Amino acid sequence: MCRHLAWLGRPRTLAQLVLEPPSSLLVQSWAPRRQRYGTVNADGWGVGFYAPGRPQPARWRSARPLWGDPSFASVAPVLSSGCVVAAVRSATVGMPLEESAVAPFTDGRWLLSHNGRVDRAVLPAVRDAESTVDSALLAALVFGRGPDALGDVVREVGAADPAARLNLLAADGARLLATTWGDTLSTLVTDEGTALASEPWDDDPAWTDVPDRSLVEVTPDGLTVTALAPIPSTPT
Ligand code: GLN
Repeated sequence: MCRHLAWLGRPRTLAQLVLEPPSSLLVQSWAPRRQRYGTVNADGWGVGFYAPGRPQPARWRSARPLWGDPSFASVAPVLSSGCVVAAVRSATVGMPLEESAVAPFTDGRWLLSHNGRVDRAVLPAVRDAESTVDSALLAALVFGRGPDALGDVVREVGAADPAARLNLLAADGARLLATTWGDTLSTLVTDEGTALASEPWDDDPAWTDVPDRSLVEVTPDGLTVTALAPIPSTPT
């Protein structure tokens, strides 16, 4: 994905989170402000969110540009959730263009989005990946290891492919986890909840940039950012 966001807090509508802000994910799909790789995010979009009493997320994805999905725009104002992951995609060259290649990927109660790229050859063979896209293989690896190993997986994959960009964003309905490894991420902590986003969706001065190579954890108790130390390369 080339731009993603997550929300944990009081319920907000999907329109409030994804469509309405001045620099929303919708606007970022054609005019991102901070994107370092790619110019438009027109290769699909996805939203995953949790409903009360249902531990597994609901998910809506499409291979079309977000601006070309009026049905979503119609329904988004009446869908609300306290935990949401959303993404718009700019496909990496050579990757499949299909709905199943669009984040967020899911397994059980988890959702996961990837902003970046990785050489698929460095990833271990995994069963159950949703697509052959690099992000789906990475998601399957994270799900297999358990999302609590998110930081370790990023450090290991980053060591195996020094050119990899590994900004990941995961949620389980009660917690958000994110990494920065080669691309941007900002946080917004408010009285109502916490947002993580590849780039701020408005000009609120409270948005804070996360340093590269960090692990972010958000719970109802607050937000923590810890450094992800690279794994030293071993002489062969
Ligand atoms: N590599 C992923 C894909 O092709 C993500 C791309 C991105 O972050 N721009 O979908």
